[in-house]
Amino acid sequence: MSIKSYAAPSQGAKLTPHVFDPGPLGNNEVEVAVTHCGICHSDIHLIDNDWGISSYPLIPGHEIVGTVTALGKSAKDLKVGQRVGIGWQAGSCMKCEWCKAGEENLCASAQPTCVGHAGGFADRARADARFAFPIPKAISSAEAAPLLCAGATVFSPLVDHKARRGTKLGVVGVGGLGHLALQFGRALGCNVTAFSTSKSKADEARRFGANRFIDLNDAAGMAAAANSLDLILTTAAADLPWDSLIAALRPKGTLCVLGMPENKVSIMAFPLLAGFKKVVGSNTGSRKMIKKMLAFAAKHRVVPTIERHPMTRVNEALQTVRDKSVRFRAVLEA
Ligand SMILES: [Zn+2]
Ligand SMILES: [Zn+2]
Repeated sequence: MSIKSYAAPSQGAKLTPHVFDPGPLGNNEVEVAVTHCGICHSDIHLIDNDWGISSYPLIPGHEIVGTVTALGKSAKDLKVGQRVGIGWQAGSCMKCEWCKAGEENLCASAQPTCVGHAGGFADRARADARFAFPIPKAISSAEAAPLLCAGATVFSPLVDHKARRGTKLGVVGVGGLGHLALQFGRALGCNVTAFSTSKSKADEARRFGANRFIDLNDAAGMAAAANSLDLILTTAAADLPWDSLIAALRPKGTLCVLGMPENKVSIMAFPLLAGFKKVVGSNTGSRKMIKKMLAFAAKHRVVPTIERHPMTRVNEALQTVRDKSVRFRAVLEA
């Protein structure tokens, strides 16, 4: 058989049709007929080889939803015809201390879905079946796609850092990740502050769950936010006013970096020491976390706002992510 995909032939290039033979299906693998695939900012980073880990032709796409078409001999937990999703990770060693502890996203041998592996901008995608997650009935396939990476990326630190009723949560950036973080924060009962450089997003941020909106460029507004938040998630792929964000934390507060800034995260040490504050990172989520996130999103109606594009128009869709005009997540449809 052959898989029809869209691939970047070289660094930064426009995607072009690319047909390849995936070879025999592995014992633990699942093959999925892709119906939808979200576009994550990381896909752009990979096309551009911003992280120095890309190999070409590069088939992006790690917010995959589709129907199981084939299963390897050992893949017993799924059924042909079942609707599943695949996120950033397509496999891991399942033997190391992190995999054994159910934290597969920390495995040193983790297999990313579109690094040295064919991603979901294609008619078929493959992964270790243990990394393909049944999608709850309440979530449509198009709306499930962005949850697989963006949803997991923001939900995981909310759980890890114990966001709950009354937690004073800050979300920096009201985009693909941010608009989901606001919704998860509201559903958890947090008091939510949205930060953005786009004042035009204030009303939308409130609609997604923000109780308060602060313009990141407004020095007076930022100063007024000092000492008010327990947890801040930074979802913007941008350099941010780090010292002002640290100042916005209450004592013992945590700044969690999710979006990839262009430059180093540089912060003054004194406010960290004086306030027992923490700066941490997080990315994607374990298998257990992704399942929990999908169930939570279904129960609390956390729904991405999406723009749909036919897969054949993938380059136009990618451009809406590059120029940040997308509101709020682009999803390709087969
Ligand atoms: Zn992603
Ligand atoms: Zn492992």
